[in-house]
Amino acid sequence: MEQEHKSWKEVLKVHYRAYRDIRKVCPGLFPVVFLKEILEAVSPYVTIFFSARILEELAGYRRAEQLWKWVFWTVISEGILVLLNLVFRQWYERKQQDFHFRKEKLFTDKWFSMDFADMDKQETHDLRSQIKMNEQYWNWGFQSVPERLGEIVRALVSIISAFGLTITLFILPVTKNGKGWRVFNNPLLILVVLGVMMLLYFVVKNLQEIINNCWENVNDDLNMSNVLAESMTGIGQKGDQAVDVRMYNQQDIVDLCLKQDDFCAPTGKMAAIYHGKGGICAGLAESMSAVFTGFIYGFTCLKALGGAFGVGMVTQYVAAATKMTVNVSELIRVYIELKTNADFLEETYKFLDIPNQMYQGSLTTEKRSDRKYQVEFKDVSFRYPGTENWSLRHVNMKFKVGKRLAIVGENGSGKTTFIKLLCRLYDPQEGQILLNGIDIRKYNYRDYMNIFSVVFQDFQLISQPLGANVAGNQTYDQQKAKSALEDAGFGERLKTMKNGLETILYKDFAENGVMVSGGEAQKIAIARALYKDAPFIILDEPTAALDPIAEAEIYSKFNDIAGDKTAVYISHRLSSCKFCDEIAVFQEGQVVQQGTHEELLEEENGKYRELWNAQAQYYTA
Ligand code: ADP
Repeated sequence: MEQEHKSWKEVLKVHYRAYRDIRKVCPGLFPVVFLKEILEAVSPYVTIFFSARILEELAGYRRAEQLWKWVFWTVISEGILVLLNLVFRQWYERKQQDFHFRKEKLFTDKWFSMDFADMDKQETHDLRSQIKMNEQYWNWGFQSVPERLGEIVRALVSIISAFGLTITLFILPVTKNGKGWRVFNNPLLILVVLGVMMLLYFVVKNLQEIINNCWENVNDDLNMSNVLAESMTGIGQKGDQAVDVRMYNQQDIVDLCLKQDDFCAPTGKMAAIYHGKGGICAGLAESMSAVFTGFIYGFTCLKALGGAFGVGMVTQYVAAATKMTVNVSELIRVYIELKTNADFLEETYKFLDIPNQMYQGSLTTEKRSDRKYQVEFKDVSFRYPGTENWSLRHVNMKFKVGKRLAIVGENGSGKTTFIKLLCRLYDPQEGQILLNGIDIRKYNYRDYMNIFSVVFQDFQLISQPLGANVAGNQTYDQQKAKSALEDAGFGERLKTMKNGLETILYKDFAENGVMVSGGEAQKIAIARALYKDAPFIILDEPTAALDPIAEAEIYSKFNDIAGDKTAVYISHRLSSCKFCDEIAVFQEGQVVQQGTHEELLEEENGKYRELWNAQAQYYTA
């Protein structure tokens, strides 16, 4: 993260923006935080005020009735404050927990709304995990905003209260008449006290800045250490990695990597800051409060000696002034933290402000009753952002409405990329994709997406009820979901599920969740595509884990259930697709052949024939 020195205006501006965003997703949080802090700030001064009154009475007239009165009010006010503090603390804790989750909405909304190309970039994911780690490990970013703003309110209220209780310290005159004593009655004396305060303020501020610089200088090491800890310590928990780790005894690598992270080691850079410059400055900053408290003690005691006030007031002034010093230091500390946090917030906004660059048209896809949607690729070329190689080059293709099209080719030949462009997850750099003769960029994106059902290779189901998975919604047509599952070949399995469509898949959130096999999951994914009932249905190798014969069976069965839809099948296994009306053969991002199975086999030196012969062993047996 780039560190730059920000003006206080910039610091406040970015925090104000965060304040507004947090208020949007977590309404009611700030009033609770501020009320709790105000209450906590005022409480000690109530105690200081009443104890001073009691002491005054004890050291002066000693009237029993008056003493009882003060004791009564002390007990009542303390009781009320303790109760209120308790209530607000509970309320605050609950709101803080709530905030912890609700702020995630800002990020999830962003993930959903950003261009797919940005969502797919590693640097976007790195940025998000960096923000997450800064929040979780070090409490920076959004996480710190309510707490810091609350601390500012507390410190300010505390300083004002302390000021209220100490103002008479400067007003009450000494009664002794000597020349030295009269100095205390000079109104300019208040300026001397303020001057000492300002001096100490600058010393503490500079010390805090030195401490902060120490941490900023090691920020990259700190981040690296976090990344290392996060990825290395998580290896044993991730199903797919954990198997390899156990199989090859890789836990030693984890230990070694963690040991090599010398940032947090007892002799590492972190320890050097605590034991060195950082520690010394922190100690000095703390001792400045003691210096000021000592100064106020001296001043108050001398005025009391000069007859300005009694012992009760001495305790009031000393206690209030001590609190004031603590809170001035607190204000400085919070301001410096806000300054650091401004960098983290900027990083957060770097993510939240990623612009949507894809053109979003407004045309609606006409709701054709004949569902005759014609799609055409016209000389389309595409390369993934940040890469040199073309993943698709000069692709021309027309989908025949209601027919079965197969896209075949070796791994890496561009089949999935072709589908991603068709679904407008990316826009091609060259050429055009047309829907009924109009560039797909001109259509409203949501509307355009509604004409496609795709079962991707790495389809994902979520740990929610089966029916909700099929419908992609919590409320759905039960009968339609059931028949989609039956069409997809899941009917028999559904009968064995006692909760039917309400059966929760997987155990992520529910103990009674049901684990489904890869093949069953794939049927549910196909049912989901059928439920959507879109005019185009695309299967992008969702059967990769199955053997060629099982895949061929699924594809030909799917052929029956796809009905009048335009269906596109993608596979690197030719046997699965030979029944299709048309087969397009991809090679290195280009369509090198197109025709029926029989036509393509006849082409003597064609890629299709070469692949067919190479794969024949699987299905001639
Ligand atoms: P297929 O589906 O035929 O196996 P793909 O369409 O997935 O092939 O990949 C085509 C080419 O694009 C490959 O060279 C692959 O490495 C590259 N590619 C795929 N996805 C990405 C991506 N997200 N970023 C960069 N290159 C990619």
